[in-house]
Amino acid sequence: MDLIKSKKLLMHVGPVDIYEEVLYAGLKNNVGFTSDEFVDAFQSSLKRLRYLFQVDQTYQPFIIPGGGTSAMESVTSFLSKGDKVLVVTNGVFGDRWLNIFKKYPVEVDYLRAEPGEYVPIDTIKEKVKEKHYKLLTLTHVETSTGVRHPVKETVEEVRDYVDLITVDGVSSVGAEEVKAKEWNVDIYLTASQKAIGAPPGLGLLVVSENAMKYLKEDNVAGFYLDLRNWLPVMKSMEEGKAAYFSTPPVHTIFMLNEALKLIEDEGIENRVKRHEKVAEAIRAGIEGMGLSIVAKRPEAYSNTVTGVLLKKVKAQDVLTEIVKEGVEIAPGVHPALQGRYVRIGHMGWVTPNDAIITISALERVLKRLGEDIKFGEGVKAAQAILS
Ligand code: PMP
Repeated sequence: MDLIKSKKLLMHVGPVDIYEEVLYAGLKNNVGFTSDEFVDAFQSSLKRLRYLFQVDQTYQPFIIPGGGTSAMESVTSFLSKGDKVLVVTNGVFGDRWLNIFKKYPVEVDYLRAEPGEYVPIDTIKEKVKEKHYKLLTLTHVETSTGVRHPVKETVEEVRDYVDLITVDGVSSVGAEEVKAKEWNVDIYLTASQKAIGAPPGLGLLVVSENAMKYLKEDNVAGFYLDLRNWLPVMKSMEEGKAAYFSTPPVHTIFMLNEALKLIEDEGIENRVKRHEKVAEAIRAGIEGMGLSIVAKRPEAYSNTVTGVLLKKVKAQDVLTEIVKEGVEIAPGVHPALQGRYVRIGHMGWVTPNDAIITISALERVLKRLGEDIKFGEGVKAAQAILS
């Protein structure tokens, strides 16, 4: 047995490492979805989502099978034929909205940023003043580049011009400040496998009263992701009564509930601060060893994902070698930077020690591969942030 490889640290952009308590919550036989045990877990998960997204009773939470993409596609439930949509994209996952809406009879325009940047607020404001859009989509943290979009500030500027604002928080919720109600976001969504620290399998949304008015019979959604079909289940479960539309992934919901409980125990503000610190240490480590970060400006840095630009070595070689050092990181997926960068995910139950392990493993690997780095300076810089 290779001890180092078998004791792997997962610093991926999702799924991420899971806390043991969360795993144990899913260690059971199949459980009937009408059982008290399951209804309790569903009910408390729904309530806990309000805390996670910082919303009150005026927001309707949804837990649906799938993941980030199913949550995104379910937003078609709020659109009717011919509606105009503006997609603001800072990379691959912003572009995913375009690919989704192309499948539906809606009109889509987009604004796209260069890799490492986000679309400036003024540009978005000009666009929404030009034309009346029913829906605007933003991506809070663009996972392909690690760029964080200033959601609060953008919404403040554009709120009056669009009917609905949706934010993809798949790589932000549970690690970045998210205040869906205070910021006036209509639909905030995420998935179970990232900063929440549960296994993959669930799409999670909270929906404002304003948005619920648009959940109409003539919406363009398909059958499975039409939130009208899921709404009675959410309402009933929240009242503690079982209901069925399609079989829920019962184990994942038990684990989600435990993860959300642990988030409450930690406190969302503490959790954000922990992520902030770890992210800062990782960035200091990267810059300390003499490499650059994909996100071009500090305002665009995220708490959850750091893209590392390589100078000479191939991304694939770094990925292969770092696993041998007991750390798994993620490939770069932005087509414009393909092969030239790797991504470090730092979300969920990530700790300062994880930052040091990752930076030190990366330094060893890059030295071995012949990259032009200042060996040892990365760990030193990361330590300085953490001590
Ligand atoms: N949006 C963002 C920002 C993501 O990072 C991802 C997943 N990497 C998705 C959407 C899609 O989520 P899923 O893979 O769970 O469908």
